[in-house]
Amino acid sequence: MLLEVRDLTTAYQGLVAIHGISLDVKAGEIVAVAGANGAGKSTLLKTIAGAERSRSGTVTFDGRRIEGEPGHLITKAGIAYVPENRRLFPRLSVRDNLRLGSYLFRGKADREEPLTGVFKLFPRLEERLPQRAETLSGGEQQMLAISRALMTRPRLLMLDEPSQGIAPKLVDEIFDAVVAIREAGTTVLIVEQRLSEVLAIADRGYVLQTGRVVITGSAQEILDHTDVRKAYLGV
Ligand code: ATP
Repeated sequence: MLLEVRDLTTAYQGLVAIHGISLDVKAGEIVAVAGANGAGKSTLLKTIAGAERSRSGTVTFDGRRIEGEPGHLITKAGIAYVPENRRLFPRLSVRDNLRLGSYLFRGKADREEPLTGVFKLFPRLEERLPQRAETLSGGEQQMLAISRALMTRPRLLMLDEPSQGIAPKLVDEIFDAVVAIREAGTTVLIVEQRLSEVLAIADRGYVLQTGRVVITGSAQEILDHTDVRKAYLGV
């Protein structure tokens, strides 16, 4: 098991956003987390990434407890996180945004090595290296945010709603990239509201409702679940 989350609870000023969540991600999997607005999906990723502090519960990554550690140490441990708002440096070029992703490494060769993979994944970023990040389209910004995360050479990539605010054609490109990222050896935990699209690429999934896991299973089991079909797929 690469990631094991047990009984994780996180609250904001006393209001519980996630409540006793347990979730596993095996090395090599794509695992999807779905659920309506406010279900706690972002809070779950933020807590794993060290951007929010849990009230209780454990997060074990590759056999080591990481809950409560600061975000930069969690990145160093091998977890890269792309938040919902992407948090790019808008005034900096594509090239500099990517460079900032590789800050973990000292040697130039180490810092530049992941670029080859990134350009293969998103050729349009290579064409736009001098362009300021703020001038990229929404889809291109998401590609850059994912690429910057990959520059840390993570073992686990966590994506928060990568399809949000993106033209449909680019959404397909992003989902194809997620599949390619997994094929290249990086495990993926992805939060998405687009349930049928994400389950088409995921191995397993978790559906959250008001901060708790209400359904879990293989991608197919979730797609076939009566409640999911009614609530999310309009069937
Ligand atoms: P969405 O799909 O809309 O992003 P989500 O499933 O990711 O929703 P969260 O963003 O994790 O859900 O929010 C879970 C709950 O926690 C919501 O009730 C939300 O209002 C609350 N919440 C999230 N962030 C904060 C915060 N910084 N301060 C206070 N409450 C928060």
